[in-house]
Amino acid sequence: YAACPPVRLRMDTERTEKKGPESMDYQGFFKESLAQLRDEGNYRVFADLERHLGQFPKATFRNAGDARDVTIWCSNDYLGMGQHPDVLAAMHGALDRCGAGAGGTRNISGTTHDHVELEIELADLHGKDAALLFTSGYVSNWATLGTLGAKIPGMVILSDALNHASMIEGIRHSKAQRIVWKHNDLTDLETHLQSLPLETPKLIAFESVYSMDGDIAPIGAICDLAEKYNALTYLDEVHAVGMYGPRGAGVAERDGVMDRVDIIQGTLGKAFGVVGGYITASTELVDFVRSFASGFIFTTALPPAVAAGAVASIKHLKQSAVERHAQQERVADLRQRLDGIGIPHIPNPSHIIPVMVGDPVKCKYISDRLLADHGIYIQPINYPTVPKGTERLRITPSPVHTAADMDRLVGALEALWAECHLARKPMAAQ
Ligand code: PMP
Repeated sequence: YAACPPVRLRMDTERTEKKGPESMDYQGFFKESLAQLRDEGNYRVFADLERHLGQFPKATFRNAGDARDVTIWCSNDYLGMGQHPDVLAAMHGALDRCGAGAGGTRNISGTTHDHVELEIELADLHGKDAALLFTSGYVSNWATLGTLGAKIPGMVILSDALNHASMIEGIRHSKAQRIVWKHNDLTDLETHLQSLPLETPKLIAFESVYSMDGDIAPIGAICDLAEKYNALTYLDEVHAVGMYGPRGAGVAERDGVMDRVDIIQGTLGKAFGVVGGYITASTELVDFVRSFASGFIFTTALPPAVAAGAVASIKHLKQSAVERHAQQERVADLRQRLDGIGIPHIPNPSHIIPVMVGDPVKCKYISDRLLADHGIYIQPINYPTVPKGTERLRITPSPVHTAADMDRLVGALEALWAECHLARKPMAAQ
């Protein structure tokens, strides 16, 4: 993910000269910016999906008066928890108990007992003293890194090159010095750490599972470096919580290094199936962010029903590995079947299967044909979300995909691969 670049405006110089800059044509500016985006092939069209209770990953796809049944293969509701009976019952219960909205910011009447319970649950999940809720994972990254970077005097933030836009924007917003280290490259990270005086406050920001390539960070080794050079560690586990570790606390739990990471950040909107974001850390750090982060302080709290649903989801996944195991089986099955027909995919150790097309037009074409001819919805991932030449279909098998769904997907991909004359060889052999 890249942070949004500024729009490059083709100015109407004649107009500006004659009438001065106050004659800005706002609607024209919007139109031209969007046309530019379309010319570059980066204009996004959203799929209008209607989900049906108990039938996920099936949905109704609507387009210009047409409605068709589709199977979704690119959802981040990774475990289908968005439709889990425990989650729904908790949300219905909270709605009936306390109504729709929280009614205020956390500071001014918006902290309900459901929020308090959820923060206790999250701190316990990650084995930390405390947790802090935000309205989304994006806001939690932006607000926390923005606050730590701005408020710790002389802070230097060392950011992995593939960090999510929310981290990049938060670091930029903080105006702290930013050093970008090569993705997952410990040697490069150490070189940068060595170049800084030991007394300089430092924070290493990185992710566990990277969302587009599905590769995983060497968390323990990064903690070794952080300890050696006295740096704080900030770990985004958005694509891991619920799915890795014996209690679903993420890759740091799986690797036995949760206690060595200073700040663990996560989302409630992916494997937990609801919405919201959070950090967990020491009491002092959480209290510091709670007290200084404007992105936390000046916004309405999440609805209590969302908090109650999240508690139910986390509690369920803490004690049930059924969903995680079923997901891992589906992922292994799809990888094996793709290898069997030579369709290239990144051989990463996670649940994300990036099928590599390597051409933006073919990537969009395959996605369109999957939808039109096979009732399969997979959003194409093109530049600027991923580098040019690495256009892909990002497939996320879940416990709720059936063997028949899998047969249809593999058959359709095989036919389209042939039709598009795409090379067939496993990525590992390239
Ligand atoms: N971090 C990463 C790595 C992400 O991929 C995303 C969202 N795709 C976020 C943070 C933001 O999380 P949320 O969707 O809860 O805002």
